[in-house]
Amino acid sequence: MPRIPKDWNLPQEPGDFLSDVGHTPEPRVKGWMNTPPVKIKRGMHCYAAKPARLKAVGMPNPREWSTMADDWKLPENWKEIFLDGMKDRLGRFRTFQLFMDICVRCGACADKCHYYIGSGDPKNMPVLRAELLRSIYRQHFTTAGKILGPVAGGRELTYERLKELWYYLYQCSECRRCSVFCPYGIDMAEITIMGRELTNLLGLNIDWIAAPVAFCYMTGNHMGIQPHAFVEMLEFFVDEIEEVTGVRVKPDFNRKGAEVLFVTPSGDVFGDPGTYTCMGYMILFHELQKLGLDITWSTYASEGGNFGLFTSNEIMKRLNSKMYAEAKRLGVKWILGGECGHMWRVVNQYMGTMNLELAEGSKMEEPVSPITGTKFENAKSTKMVHITEFTADLIRNNKLKLDPSRNDHLKVTFHDSCNPARGMGLFEEPRYVIKNVCNNFYEMPENTIREQTFCCGAGSGLNAGEDMELRMRGGLPRANAVKYAHEQHGVNMMACICAIDRAVLPDLMTYYVPGVDITGIHELVTNAMVLDGEKKKTVDLRGEPLPGKEDKE
Ligand code: SF4
Ligand code: SF4
Repeated sequence: MPRIPKDWNLPQEPGDFLSDVGHTPEPRVKGWMNTPPVKIKRGMHCYAAKPARLKAVGMPNPREWSTMADDWKLPENWKEIFLDGMKDRLGRFRTFQLFMDICVRCGACADKCHYYIGSGDPKNMPVLRAELLRSIYRQHFTTAGKILGPVAGGRELTYERLKELWYYLYQCSECRRCSVFCPYGIDMAEITIMGRELTNLLGLNIDWIAAPVAFCYMTGNHMGIQPHAFVEMLEFFVDEIEEVTGVRVKPDFNRKGAEVLFVTPSGDVFGDPGTYTCMGYMILFHELQKLGLDITWSTYASEGGNFGLFTSNEIMKRLNSKMYAEAKRLGVKWILGGECGHMWRVVNQYMGTMNLELAEGSKMEEPVSPITGTKFENAKSTKMVHITEFTADLIRNNKLKLDPSRNDHLKVTFHDSCNPARGMGLFEEPRYVIKNVCNNFYEMPENTIREQTFCCGAGSGLNAGEDMELRMRGGLPRANAVKYAHEQHGVNMMACICAIDRAVLPDLMTYYVPGVDITGIHELVTNAMVLDGEKKKTVDLRGEPLPGKEDKE
């Protein structure tokens, strides 16, 4: 039985597939500006957005089109739309104007991108990815470019160049690793965000982003789970939890007057291994209710993640607003947010200028833990607390009964998910929690963690099935670091605090490091928690036997 599923269209041996990676740029004599038209390769991109998705949120130019076709059926005045859009955004977003102007092409970022490392394609160097758009900017918006063209680094916007730009915009996961190394702090993700926003004016989204956006807009979450189904799924988890622990938890929904609203990515409700993290939240809340936590879930704001971030600022704002609107409707004081990646990037980096006015006239206030009395001053403006901060505070104040030996079957490492790490600096809290609930914790090499962490290979909406080659190439540096921890320390579990990571890292491990599984932190927390009235625990939430606690018949 082959280890790698056939529909991945990848060799069984990763070495075979990586043997064509060369990190030598095109010969200088040719120059990158004259490289031949891009060849869009199967496995390295995602399928086109279906028109219904775009229509659902009123995005422009919805139509059937194919990424592999010569004719992308662009509107007749596509060039005008693109350049007008660019002009508008150069005027509105200072970062965009700045990042179009200031790169000195020092190359410090060149080898820092996981897609370049794994593909060897020079256009995946961040500096060159940015140049694809910057050269169009120079040609059409700078005096030197208008007069001197290529001599001043300008390139006319042509159909071929639009395709090339699109292809490489969707080979960037907006992870911002390259930005850590840029002496000017140029944020490549901001360039990609703007580039995607411009191509979206032409209806050129991918379905893996457009579908979750449409679902989220229509049903409240990316998965398109209807409110009644959302409740049923959590009720199913109630039964599962009772089977393992003997304790019957009682989540409630849409309760007006609750103190706290809980919002998490729907990926945790929908698919393994995120579901175990979801059960972890439910167990934690059940225990804390006795200590004074007054919390409710929402079937309307049933998504913490925000695929709008990968689409446009306008869509990001619209999708995010439902959390604050729901908080206001229910009259809660603050929002507790689950283990998610882009949710936190959006909240921490953009909410200050987006939806905070929605909190006006509501009962929202600076979050205070009802259990420990800790004020979360860092969340004063957003009124949202990350669950690992919340749980770290509980542990620090001895509010949880923990038996870390219940995780002794695991040797754990921690993957810093790009957005909580580089988007909010959440490095210590997850580690603090893990070290208190697990006896065996090992770090991956230093230059692959914390702010230098590597992307899972499929962030920013690239976690489709059809771009598996791109994902495995982009995931190579992360997998390599896990392999090191696996071989050196016997690591068999990698924890992370992002639902996309929990969805995509199992595939990456299947390909490169079989024997390492993926978990969320709150699965580990509640594995270790000693619950009031629990039965003798013999298995963990996955049904795996706990060492030394097996039933002796
Ligand atoms: S490190 Fe910064 S300045 Fe240097 S090439 Fe990269 S983006 Fe440009
Ligand atoms: S994927 Fe990450 S490292 Fe690569 S260019 Fe995009 S932001 Fe930079």
